[in-house]
Order: sequence, then structure tokens, then C-alpha cells
Amino acid sequence: MRNLISLYTVPVGNGAWTEELTMPSDTEARDTTTGERAVVDLLVTNARLVTMDAERRIIERGAVAVAGTEVVAVGGTASLRSRFAAGRTIDAGGGVVTPGLVNAHQHVTGGPLAWSCIQDDMPPGEPIFFWSVPMHEHERARDEELSALLVAAESLRAGTTTLVEPGTVTHPEAVAAGLEASGIRATVGTWAWDTVEGPLHAPAPEILRRLDEVLDAHPGGGRVEGWVTLIGHSLASDELLRGASDLARERGVGMTMHLSPTSSDPEVYLARHGRRPAVHLERLGVLGPHLLLGHGVWLDDEEIDAVLATRTAIAYCPWAYLRLGQGVTGQGRHGEIVRRGGRVALGCDGVNASDSVDVLRTAALAAGIAKDQRVDPTFFSAHDALELATCAGAEAIGMADRIGSIEPGKKADLVVFEHARPHWSGSGDPALALVWSSDGRHVRHVVVDGRLVVEDGRCLTVDEPALVEEARQRSADLMARAGLRPAVRWPVVHGD
Ligand SMILES: [Zn+2]
Repeated sequence: MRNLISLYTVPVGNGAWTEELTMPSDTEARDTTTGERAVVDLLVTNARLVTMDAERRIIERGAVAVAGTEVVAVGGTASLRSRFAAGRTIDAGGGVVTPGLVNAHQHVTGGPLAWSCIQDDMPPGEPIFFWSVPMHEHERARDEELSALLVAAESLRAGTTTLVEPGTVTHPEAVAAGLEASGIRATVGTWAWDTVEGPLHAPAPEILRRLDEVLDAHPGGGRVEGWVTLIGHSLASDELLRGASDLARERGVGMTMHLSPTSSDPEVYLARHGRRPAVHLERLGVLGPHLLLGHGVWLDDEEIDAVLATRTAIAYCPWAYLRLGQGVTGQGRHGEIVRRGGRVALGCDGVNASDSVDVLRTAALAAGIAKDQRVDPTFFSAHDALELATCAGAEAIGMADRIGSIEPGKKADLVVFEHARPHWSGSGDPALALVWSSDGRHVRHVVVDGRLVVEDGRCLTVDEPALVEEARQRSADLMARAGLRPAVRWPVVHGD
């Protein structure tokens, strides 16, 4: 759809409005009068612009013009300065500017009030059933809102401008309010299961009704939009799986669910249905381009063929599999899926699963694992990984028409990196430097939807010290309600 945006032309050096010019947002803004410049809201200049457009152009001394929420022009700094007068200019100082990073699997509830509370050497399942489930059960609306704010602020400071919440939200309105306030672009759903009794058990029709309500409250295309989310694994009946998939297709929104991070989902599906999970989902008609599977680590040949044939996407969260010891180095085939044309995005999963909310660290790991599994450095590159973090990731979550590259007509989601770092001192390839040498700590400014949300490494939309202080108190209250006792393993000696 060609949204119309309004620009204004104004004589150079004169602040008076003279004429309104309306132009389609998917073409470059052009002056209509010699000696006059179009006024835009934001100009980012002196950038080493990693556009991630179809040709993967890198524009030295590049610039981006932003009007409202969208990019209206991309080019050289001198030419854009001659064409546009900006309400605000950000001088990148020669630093790299990339599209906002995409995190396709990021829990924003449950873990953030228990950061580093769950030990990393517990037996499989124990972190989930002895910690995560009781925490989710006892979380109140403000706990979830606060958690979402903390995760969103941390994500923004690390250059993530879009995150997909993968299905552990009990209070969707509170979480949506937190995500909205943070300034991040995000999806939100709600969750429950219907196959086993437990604190979040509900009948399939009720779960579908709740999901439908979230979609009504947060229509597709908004900065925070509703998605159909299921926790997935083996916790959904065929009725719920079919109903959720139909709902997503009817409403034209994305759907996400967890599948096969470990061998336990295949074991349960084989016992229950005589088929492996992805094959069973294909037979149900649930696989398709609307579906983003979280993980997909333990997939066999037939399942990978089904995922590829149906254009089903996968959110790949390698840090979580390593922290939890789930077998990605031996079983994961995400590099192969990418090589075969599959749709893969990167995810940082949850706090206490991969812990760090940093897509660039994840990109480095994805590249490293793919090379090492094949014992072949030519199999996968930093460029492949950077695509997963940007344009390919955007495509995998169904947002390639809006985000993932810096081009006229796309949303103005931009990341400006620090320039004064050793890895930027040479004339090296920026994709290599971003993936192998940088991480989110090197992010300087972030723009989402045309709005500056991080400036000089500080999140402008939230009062982080106040939130952290509130989180300390709420964490203690939540642990007490849930009967959990986090402990430091080594002896703690109190000083004077
Ligand atoms: Zn997850």
C-alpha cells in the first residue's frame, strides 16, 4: 500500500512554510522548486550506511531522510543536505548505520524479575517447571508490564527495534502498554494450554477467544500488533492448533509457537500421534508462511522438507540451546535450512535461557555454529548472519514490507553505532566488524518509527534506574508469592 505522507517546501534559510507537497512514500522525495528544500523531520548524515537493500549497498558518507515514521530518501550526505531541511539532524560521525535489528523470539515476562536467579546446571525441565511456571502463575499485571519495559529498554539499547513475543503473556494489555511506552516495535499475544492440567490450563475455545480479543485490541500494522501465540511444544491439542492457525490466517496476522528445542517434543508426538511434530503439523494444515516456529532444533529430514515446502519460518535462538545444553551443535540444521532457501530469523529467547538481549551476539554465534558444524568456513558468513538479523529476519516474521532495510517507503528504524572503536579504524568490511567485533554495547543512537528512542546509549523513553529499583522490590515479592528462594551458590561474605 502506498501511504501518503506530507512534506513541505521552504526557501533555504527561511523558516516560513510556503507550500504543501504530498508524495507517495515509496518513492524518493524530490524538490519541486529550484533553491528550495523539502522539510523532513530527521536527517541522519555522515554515515557508513549498511542499507541491506536488494543490492546490499553500503553507502559511504551516506545519509537518510525521515518524514514522520518513514524513510523518504537515501543517498549521499551532500546531496541529501542540498535537498532537505531537517527538523533534527543526527551526525553519525562516520559511524556505521544499519536497519534496526530483528529479534524474532524474545520472552518479555517471567524471567526479567528473576534475572540470573535460575542456575544453569539444573536437569532438563527443572528451570521451566520449578521456576518459570510458578513465576508466571504468580505474576501480576504490573509485574508483566514492568518486565516488558525492562526487556524493551535493554533491547533498544542493543539496537533491536523489533521483537516478537513468543507466547508467555498472561496480561496482554499490560504487556502491550509497556511495549508501547518503550517505543519499540513488537508483537504481543496471550497464552494457555489445553492438553495437561496446570495453572494455565483452559479449554481450546476459551484460549482462541482470548487470542481473538488481543487481535481486536492491537490490529496488524500498528507499532505493537497482535499475533496468535501458543506456547506450543506438546501443550496444544489438535483442535487448538487448527483453531489458532485458522485464526491467524483469517485475521492476516502472524502466529508463533515453540517446537522441538530438545528431543522431548518428538518423543511425545511420536507416542501420541505416531508422527514427528512438524510432520503432524503439516498433516493438520497448520504449517505455512503465517507460522513462525520457535527453535526447530530437533527436526529430521522429513520435517525440514515440510518446513521448506510450506514456507514456514523458524526463530533460531542459539544462545538458549547452549546455556540449556539442548544439542544444537549436534542436531541443529539452521544453516542448512538457510542455504536451502528457508525462512530463518534470530531470537534471544528468555532471560535465564540465553540471558543476553543482543541480536549481534546471537548473529555471531549463528555464523560460528554453522561453520563449525560443517568444519567448513565457506558454509556460512557474517554477511549471512547479518541478513538474518535484518532483512531476512524481517521477511521471516512477515514484516519485510515495513522493516529490515533502509529504503524509501520503509519504516525509519535505524541504529547508529559508535565510531571510535578499534574495529572501525581500518577500511574493513562492516558486515565482518558488526558480527564478529561489535555487539549491542557499541550502539549509540536508535530510531524507531522515526522517533529517537536511544541517544548516546541512554534510553529516552523510560526511566531505567527507577524501573530497576521497582523491579528489585517486585522481584522479591514475586519470589515470596511463588515460594521460590534464589540463592548465590558460593559463600557470600559481607564487608564492613
Ligand atoms: Zn521461548
